Amino acid sequence: MPAHVAILGGGLSGLSAAFHLSRRFPNALITIIEKHNKLGGWAQSDRIEVKDERGQPCSVLLESGPRTLRPNAHSVLELIHLLGLKDSLVLTPRSAAAARKRFLYIYGTKGLTPLPSSVAALVSSPLRSLFVRAGLRDTFIASQSAGDESVHEFLSRHFGEDFALTLGSALVHGIYAADSRKLSVRAAFPTLCEAEKRGRGRVIAGSFLSSPTTTNGYDLGDMKSVMDGVSVYSFRDGLSTITNALQAHLAFKPNVRMLLGTGVSRLSMGDAVEVTMSTGERITPTHVVSALPLPQLQPLLASSSLPHLNANPSSSVKVANFVFPSSSRFHPDGFGYLIPRSKSGYQNSENPGILGTVFDSCSLAEQDRPSPAPIKVTMMLGGPYGHVDIPESTLLSHLASHVGGVRLPKLLYSRIQHHRDCIPSFTPGHLERMDELRQVLREGPWKGRLEVIGAGVGGVSVGDCVEAGRNAGVHWQ
Ligand SMILES: Cc1cc2nc3c(=O)[nH]c(=O)nc-3n(C[C@H](O)[C@H](O)[C@H](O)COP(=O)(O)OP(=O)(O)OC[C@H]3O[C@@H](n4cnc5c(N)ncnc54)[C@H](O)[C@@H]3O)c2cc1C
Repeated sequence: MPAHVAILGGGLSGLSAAFHLSRRFPNALITIIEKHNKLGGWAQSDRIEVKDERGQPCSVLLESGPRTLRPNAHSVLELIHLLGLKDSLVLTPRSAAAARKRFLYIYGTKGLTPLPSSVAALVSSPLRSLFVRAGLRDTFIASQSAGDESVHEFLSRHFGEDFALTLGSALVHGIYAADSRKLSVRAAFPTLCEAEKRGRGRVIAGSFLSSPTTTNGYDLGDMKSVMDGVSVYSFRDGLSTITNALQAHLAFKPNVRMLLGTGVSRLSMGDAVEVTMSTGERITPTHVVSALPLPQLQPLLASSSLPHLNANPSSSVKVANFVFPSSSRFHPDGFGYLIPRSKSGYQNSENPGILGTVFDSCSLAEQDRPSPAPIKVTMMLGGPYGHVDIPESTLLSHLASHVGGVRLPKLLYSRIQHHRDCIPSFTPGHLERMDELRQVLREGPWKGRLEVIGAGVGGVSVGDCVEAGRNAGVHWQ
């Protein structure tokens, strides 16, 4: 039984671990150590005040990191229930335009191309032949993988190279800000591999055979009915609602200590576990959960190094938030658009490095005041394009051209943030490498006293991170 658990890193993974460990071991001391003065890691929401074109004050919520969640992550729904956050939810129903309409920007075409959301929409879609060819190929040519491969290889095998380039690369840009030719399909899209297995080499057939997911073991209250018919959701004050509520909850727990503005500088295992902090303070917890990005754990390990911490690269992205007057809707209704990789790769004159744009106001207008709220959009840049330094005026002219060559209204507010190494890119073999890491943690000098979790281990989505925190230390009793 742990008497004292040190949790390294206060992002979503670390905070979720602290929440669940403090409930599971009410008599253990839990120490959270976070190098920044603010908890939450990449989840950061800011409310800004701007004046509209008539000089009226408006309050707009901007996200730097995650912005919308899907209701399939039970661990997050459980947190919402247990922390009493239901009344702060902003729900986007499946019937809303933001749920039904997603677009691609396809090089050489004018305006955005809608992704077909029904069979009827497919019939009149410019992407009809791409989808029909992909469907026929997967149906008539069964193909089962022998080992891990890239997302591009998997999608090419099942749906053809064109589909993999157009849809696959765009999807990977939207979720991982990565190159689909380098991302492991098993680690990044496990449901595709499961569908392939169930369908004996046919992904579409396999996806119809999926068994309903079970919510056993999760304390969901009435969250299942709250999320009935919901496509995506957020909170009136953004995703930081979760991390702020976790912080407030943990602050009331007598057995939890939060050390902010304190970096971990050394982690060692001799006769006992020892954590040294940037302040010089040393603690000797009985157990440790590392919720740090994996490459940042490596240099802290004094004696016993661990395998594979530097095996994956990470994507760096720039996030550009733009706010326009409410009267100036210049884009179609919908979630936003993604831009596929060009046939010539990432060095091309057509795209200076834009991955996609989210039309935030379509799904998240309830976050902003007054109503009708100002128009807010977020552009994501960088990732596989490398370091991009694009002036704001160039970004805006690309945005105007993507949505059909419109004249953009005057900006009310803008900001561009650079997030260095913010999303791990799992290369093929990641799952096997993480199994080896877990084996060393169990059987090596750490003898199971150190758990390594976080976006770089078990998945980058908020749901993956909260789930990993929930499972931290389950073998310690
Ligand atoms: C731009 C962007 C958009 C995203 N959008 C979505 C989305 O819409 N939906 C979704 O599900 N997911 C999204 N994600 C992914 C998701 O937000 C992240 O994967 C998740 O927040 C990672 O949480 P984490 O706790 O594992 O890591 P982090 O957030 O990186 O937390 C690690 C913490 O460790 C701290 N730390 C580092 N070194 C030390 C040290 N030496 N000592 C002490 N502390 C240290 C850091 O300061 C940080 O607080 C997005 C991510 C980004 C970057």
